[in-house]
Amino acid sequence: MTFTKLNLIDPLLSELEKLGYVTPTPIQVQSIPHLLDGKDIFGCAQTGTGKTAAFALPILQMLEAKKDHTAKHITKALVLAPTRELAQQISANFSAYGKKLSFTHATIFGGVSQNAQIKDLRKGVDILIATPGRLLDLMQQGFIKLNTIEYFVLDEADRMLDMGFINDVKKIIAKIPAKRQTMFFSATAAPEIMKLANSLLKDPVRVSVTPVSSTASLVTQSVYYVKKENKRFLLNHVLKGNAIEHALVFTRTKRGADKVAKDLKSKGINAEAIHGNKSQSTRERVLKGFKNKHIRVLVATDIASRGIDVDKLSHVINYEIPEQAETYVHRIGRTGRAGSTGIALSFCSQDEMSYLKDIHKLIKKNIQVIEAHPFAS
Ligand code: AMP
Repeated sequence: MTFTKLNLIDPLLSELEKLGYVTPTPIQVQSIPHLLDGKDIFGCAQTGTGKTAAFALPILQMLEAKKDHTAKHITKALVLAPTRELAQQISANFSAYGKKLSFTHATIFGGVSQNAQIKDLRKGVDILIATPGRLLDLMQQGFIKLNTIEYFVLDEADRMLDMGFINDVKKIIAKIPAKRQTMFFSATAAPEIMKLANSLLKDPVRVSVTPVSSTASLVTQSVYYVKKENKRFLLNHVLKGNAIEHALVFTRTKRGADKVAKDLKSKGINAEAIHGNKSQSTRERVLKGFKNKHIRVLVATDIASRGIDVDKLSHVINYEIPEQAETYVHRIGRTGRAGSTGIALSFCSQDEMSYLKDIHKLIKKNIQVIEAHPFAS
């Protein structure tokens, strides 16, 4: 399968080629033809599956097909994302794929001054990528109207619900014309998600890739049993030497993330923490540093990690086992992306055994136990 077979137009194909995309991913193969056909879609897919291109490419192509060369920029597409990082990443994808096309887009998210965003809006935007809170805020101030939207994407709907954005999302949707094409993406198909999806979608095509219960087969998973108080020594131990060049470490809490990063720094390891209490500029600086590998270890909470997009992230370390088994699948999905292999290590203390059990149940396999380590318990 090639992108040409998906009937994409040349200005998109040439940019995909430059980006080194050779074959479309399964979610792209399954979604793009239906979306180009004008269908609504329910996509069950997590980050790392190529879902952004699965909706961004058809949107760009459909906007191009309908382009009125005399008209000003009219906002026809809205993408809602739960986090700033994801919104920025989606924007970057639209920029990359649409380089040869002349559409403008604005990225709207909170935590920063609204002035620059308003300036962007005033210039006129074809594509709006936004997190719910700030979008609603700017709508209420009269800077944004959604009455010209024809394409609406709700990305990571499960996370939107988890983060308590449902009411904001509903208020926003109420302002979008009913006559539209809706693309709904979620990593899970829980009943609450399905209820929301059914209220938004008209006769949707359902596509599903790597359901959340099947962990990426390219990820090698192992677990270390260790006492809680020894986890920091174990982390230091596994990071010793050069085997782990670059790692994303997960903690359950913001405080935990700060503590782990501080401890690593005190041992001379270049580490930073990222979580919701950090300012936008810090988050951007840290993500950039991690992306260009100046920062070796990024310690993150689950919400902050959503949307961290680092090519070929080799290692994910679960410093703490997540309470929700699905979260484990999301976490390790950060590694081994787009065809490269990854390694996921989990540190499990006695009080976390039940979480690990749930994970085993969900992924339907046992994770290899590393017994030979100095802090075995
Ligand atoms: P996403 O799931 O949209 O976050 O995409 C995950 C990563 O895969 C991103 O870094 C994309 O740039 C990359 N990607 C998406 N589609 C393809 C493709 N067809 N071939 C290679 N890489 C891709």
